[in-house]
Amino acid sequence: MKKIGITTNVPIEVLLAAGFQPVDLNNIFISDPDPERLIKIAEKSGFPINCCGWIKGIYGVCMEYNIDTVMCVTNGDCSNTVMLMEVLRHKGLKAIPFAYPEQPDKSAMQKTLQKLAAELGTTLEEAEDVRKQLEPTRVLADRLDSLAWQDNKVSGFENHLWLVSASDFNGNYNEYRKQLQAVIDNAKKRRPYAEETLRLAYIGVPSVYGKELYRFTENNGARIVYNEIQRQFAMTQPVNSLAEQYTVYTYPYSIKNRIDDIQRELEKRKIDGIIHYVQAFCYRGIGGIIFKDVLKLPILTLEGNDIFCLDQHIRTRIEAFIDILKRKPDM
Ligand code: SF4
Repeated sequence: MKKIGITTNVPIEVLLAAGFQPVDLNNIFISDPDPERLIKIAEKSGFPINCCGWIKGIYGVCMEYNIDTVMCVTNGDCSNTVMLMEVLRHKGLKAIPFAYPEQPDKSAMQKTLQKLAAELGTTLEEAEDVRKQLEPTRVLADRLDSLAWQDNKVSGFENHLWLVSASDFNGNYNEYRKQLQAVIDNAKKRRPYAEETLRLAYIGVPSVYGKELYRFTENNGARIVYNEIQRQFAMTQPVNSLAEQYTVYTYPYSIKNRIDDIQRELEKRKIDGIIHYVQAFCYRGIGGIIFKDVLKLPILTLEGNDIFCLDQHIRTRIEAFIDILKRKPDM
């Protein structure tokens, strides 16, 4: 199968039906042993210092990992991707644009998917067959998520990792399913986390801190039991069609759709406090104004850039936040 880089979640069922192997460039960037090096490659090529690290990382991955075809999401993700696409084309890569409809409207999504399928030389019917093949894997991802928040047997990082990896199923969905099944079988035998551990939600784009953020909160008596965007990436809700799957997916649309989903999960998962991660220079950070207004729980906003670990300043802020939650009268 021919590899195709993706800049965020796209309808991978259509790509797979067309004979492509989707590869999430974000996941390659963040799991690279030296992600700073990939950012430096972009900066040496002229990407400004005040451009988001993920965009620069994606560019670095394209240059370093010999990616020659990329699907760039031009509506429903990030305006920086539009210019990234131009630069990739200028560098000789094939860049295929994909635009989510403005609204989560099923018939608009259906037309968008049909157009994409035709462009890639497949049909929506073939893509629907792939959706059905992927269904058991998405059900397993949902099972892992409930082992995190309901059974309290899966760590916040495991939950993050398996859900975020569902954007491309690590390049092989059969292998992903086998490995995830093994993790679930093992997790079921574990002793649950202590009842008194605080329960945190993580909202916003995945952070540059990786495992360290989750470990640090757990070492301080608080566990992330809800990873908002990562859960969205895994598309675990049962659906009857691809058009439905990509309209109940909240990430590309208005923040209101995200808030409805977040509020439902905060209540269901009995969350005590929220970590809102924002990436430096990302327009999505402005949405924090709305989150602080409408979400009725304490929120800690963390802004990360291109330092891939928790520095002392951030550690202190997290410790203080957890301390405040522990002192709340109803805790
Ligand atoms: S973090 Fe924000 S600015 Fe960066 S790629 Fe994602 S949406 Fe774009």
